[in-house]
Amino acid sequence: KLILAIETSCDETSAAVIENGQTILSNIVASQIKSHQRFGGVVPEIASRHHVEQITLIIEEALLEADVTYSDLDAVAVTEGPGLVGALLIGVNAAKAIAFAHDLPLIAVNHIKGHIFANQLVDTLTFPLLSLVVSGGHTELIYMESEDSYKIIGETRDDAVGEAYDKIGRVLGVPYPGGKHIDQMAHEGKDTYNFPRAMMTDDNFDFSFSGLKSSFINTVHNAKQKDEELNHNDLAASFQAAVVEVLVSKTIRAAKLKNVKQLVLAGGVAANQGLRTALEKAVFEELDEVELLIPPLRLCGDNAAMIGAAAFVQLRNNDYADYSLNGRPGLTV
Ligand code: ATP
Ligand code: MG
Ligand code: FE
Repeated sequence: KLILAIETSCDETSAAVIENGQTILSNIVASQIKSHQRFGGVVPEIASRHHVEQITLIIEEALLEADVTYSDLDAVAVTEGPGLVGALLIGVNAAKAIAFAHDLPLIAVNHIKGHIFANQLVDTLTFPLLSLVVSGGHTELIYMESEDSYKIIGETRDDAVGEAYDKIGRVLGVPYPGGKHIDQMAHEGKDTYNFPRAMMTDDNFDFSFSGLKSSFINTVHNAKQKDEELNHNDLAASFQAAVVEVLVSKTIRAAKLKNVKQLVLAGGVAANQGLRTALEKAVFEELDEVELLIPPLRLCGDNAAMIGAAAFVQLRNNDYADYSLNGRPGLTV
């Protein structure tokens, strides 16, 4: 079964052709980062305009690279949410037009489910599993008993991890999005600043990163006021150590409690080298017979291939959308 998948929830315009939910025939990703960088974040109006300009070209390129035509397809899938409403609508309307013109079933996909299913493109998801979703807008521990059952057992009470990275990146003057740069700097530095590990020992699976962010910003401002030297690499390393320690310890605890077969990392922050290494080590040392899945770097950020992987479950279940499909910016799993 061939699915054409479309993703336009934020600042990547992407289209992919996926076979049987697991094989990538093409996965074209056009990033808009350069257009948003001078504003220090994603500007929704600019994002929508870029999606409009790019969408038909990217879809054509995805079909061309996969060497398929519309008549070869079994369905068209699109991200319906969560994301920026204007950005989502470009993808949703493109998908509806294709479904109508070529008489194809339409599949509406949740972007966060897509991030989890990115792993299905290189491995096989085995249930029950626990997924740590860490991205620009989400930080969640999601328990999945089967391929279409999602239960959030813990989440951030304030900032998402990626959001915290990008905010402190701005304070250190690195380009948007700061996550990748802070990660690189962290590897050159040491954990000398001892930032708070919020909620780490609390008896729940929730997270909080705004206190850590404030503590970081205060440290930088106080040092500037006193004209003290700051070691940016050590600051980055200290921030990352605090983030990783909290994420890993709570995730391992949840995996033990839920007795899962797999632990699945997902989302843009899954690209973080410190997190990947620490999670591998903790799973090896603390969890018996739990398989750890970590997506390859090229599938961590937003892409349409992951949407096609998630859509395949819905295709098998005849879970289709109709032409009233709309963008749903606040959609949850
Ligand atoms: P969501 O998926 O929650 O809707 P989003 O789609 O905007 O949000 P993603 O594209 O999944 O978010 O992830 C982008 C985030 O990942 C950014 O905040 C970025 O800084 C962060 N990120 C990317 N690489 C790294 C890294 N190596 N270390 C830390 N953060 C990273
Ligand atoms: Mg993005
Ligand atoms: Fe995302």
